[in-house]
Amino acid sequence: MRVWIKDPLAILAEGAEGGIVVQHGRIVELLGRGDRPNGEIDQVYDASNHVVVPGLINTHHHFFQTLTRAHPEGLNKELFPWLKALHPIWARHVTPDRFRLATRLALTELLMSGCTCASDHHYFYPPGLDEAMDIQAEEAMRLGVRMTLTRGSMNLSEKDGGVADDGAVQDEDTILADCERVLSRYHDTSDGAMLQVALAPCAPFNVTKRLMVDTVGLAERFDCRLHTHLAETRDENEYCLANFGCRPVDYLEECGWMTDRVWLAHGIHFDDDEVHRLGRHRVGICHCPTSNMTLASGQCRTRELEVAGAPIGLGVDGSASNDNSNLMESLRHALMINRITYDAASITHLDVFRWASQGSARCLGRTDIGAIAVGKQADLAFYTLDELRFSGAGDPLAALVLCGAHQADRVMVGGQWRVENGEPIGIDIEKLRREHGEAAKAFLSAM
Ligand SMILES: [Zn+2]
Repeated sequence: MRVWIKDPLAILAEGAEGGIVVQHGRIVELLGRGDRPNGEIDQVYDASNHVVVPGLINTHHHFFQTLTRAHPEGLNKELFPWLKALHPIWARHVTPDRFRLATRLALTELLMSGCTCASDHHYFYPPGLDEAMDIQAEEAMRLGVRMTLTRGSMNLSEKDGGVADDGAVQDEDTILADCERVLSRYHDTSDGAMLQVALAPCAPFNVTKRLMVDTVGLAERFDCRLHTHLAETRDENEYCLANFGCRPVDYLEECGWMTDRVWLAHGIHFDDDEVHRLGRHRVGICHCPTSNMTLASGQCRTRELEVAGAPIGLGVDGSASNDNSNLMESLRHALMINRITYDAASITHLDVFRWASQGSARCLGRTDIGAIAVGKQADLAFYTLDELRFSGAGDPLAALVLCGAHQADRVMVGGQWRVENGEPIGIDIEKLRREHGEAAKAFLSAM
């Protein structure tokens, strides 16, 4: 089947004004204005009402937190007190069924915003949730969204000086055995993979150094990515200085994590020397603007990091600190917050699109997605400019960011339509909203 996505209103690709041709799940041809495809075409899709961009890629999230959005115990707090307030509630109430609904809801929400590939940093393993990665793999395949299953871990709880509830941590042997199981089962390194696996100790303040080091060995053996939270708050710097006698980046280096296999969530509180070291080692940074504003964490030094050589990706972060999973909205937030740090000419709508596509793909270690180019997977998001908020807009691509696009009209993953007319295929939105809302009530009643 060769499909011509014809004459888009605008498209984020050079030399594709006449559209693109998709075959066997890949982009096989870019057409200039007025060009016709080479060879026979089976189907023409008229995109003259659509702005087409590469499918957005989310590189940091915690799907289970959709169950505690705008939770009264989490309101108006910064990271450490916010974590301490919510951890006991999560530990008591996250069950496999609720986790499945949270995963389905977060993935659906991401997909509807134009996201075609997502990583979920799941570090939370209370008793009974041993099959969290299997649940996420099933839900991602059901929706047809690519996913980097990010097998997180915690082995220090509050009694060890960490911030996690005692009931939500596992011992190192259990963690590494499950990491190996998940890697063997789901880590697909082939071109166009729907599922990959990354290993992700939660943060330096809730795992042991031994677990950080041993996780690197496993990642090298299976050739997978490594992820963790780093330098999100000043509290974390102080914790590292007090407990490890060094700053978070030095600690990362001591653990063998300064490699291009690593991408970090947040990466805010770095000094100039750290920015250069991270760039030199090509360590990726997932910028999470919405979460950083909500928790008053600070602003990632995106521009300096990118100039130094670090790939910058984008993430919505957990839904209790965002409090939604709308990646398109995060592009707008990224533009706005970065303009406070830098200036209007330095950060444009094209920069935030680059972070959410090519930059995020580099963070996840993928070269087959993240751009509209010949040979790449046909992962595409289509937006219309029909809503009132776009009326009068001049530049269609800039309008998506500046006027605040929230929802894709169509989404394609590997050449397959996964959203049509704003509706995800195979999902009953009303039913999902009802079931997830019902499941979330347990987290409130416990207060
Ligand atoms: Zn996070």
